[in-house]
Amino acid sequence: MTPAAGGAGPGEVKVTPVPCLADNYAYLFEQDEQIIVVDPSEPEPVLKALAGRRLTAIACTHHHWDHVGGVEALVARFGVPVYASAYDHARDRVPGQTVGLRDGETVSFGALTARVWLVPGHTLGALAWQVGDELFTGDTLFLGGCGRLFEGDAEMMLASLSRLRALSPETRLWCGHEYTARNRAFGRTIAPDPLPDPAGPSMPGTLAEERRRNVLLRWDDPAVMAWAGSRDPVEVFGKVRGARDMF
Ligand SMILES: [Zn+2]
Repeated sequence: MTPAAGGAGPGEVKVTPVPCLADNYAYLFEQDEQIIVVDPSEPEPVLKALAGRRLTAIACTHHHWDHVGGVEALVARFGVPVYASAYDHARDRVPGQTVGLRDGETVSFGALTARVWLVPGHTLGALAWQVGDELFTGDTLFLGGCGRLFEGDAEMMLASLSRLRALSPETRLWCGHEYTARNRAFGRTIAPDPLPDPAGPSMPGTLAEERRRNVLLRWDDPAVMAWAGSRDPVEVFGKVRGARDMF
């Protein structure tokens, strides 16, 4: 188990990454007695991380099986509400979903308040969950990369990533997969990356660092524009995303 990052002091949010499946992460975020799990891919690692404590709620970023596979077992065990987007709720594609959230809505768990960002691109119902300076990005934003465009297009994903990129540079990023090393290797084929990669689990990243390093967030960086041979953000982003698909 990766040690919890973030503070655990009074009023602070504690985040615990929970590795699942081959390279997925679920996360616990908690304060006082409120414990929320993000994207439980499977139940067992989450139960282990809970260590006998009671779950408060389940927060999903999107409907893909490797993010919601553990939802029903955890609902059966704890009877907790399941939050995902209104878009996914309308399509009944997150198992056990009880609440559909729209862009900008907040959910309170005791003194904890989470805000959701609707960030379509990877899927049309994708959410990012923001709790203070912690951001759970699902498969929208990865360290060094972004999600594949399964349901949206480059223009849509660019708009979503632009909103996330504009958040505080202090924002800590907790992503849905451990793809960082592969993404950084790809990034170096596009533009120079001055920083080395530490070995091992990489979460969390920071938005400040991703703005400098992540070629999928640098559609307006001269080096990336030169690589793409374009100054049009959608074209630059689309070309980099396309090259990552082939990498
Ligand atoms: Zn996905």
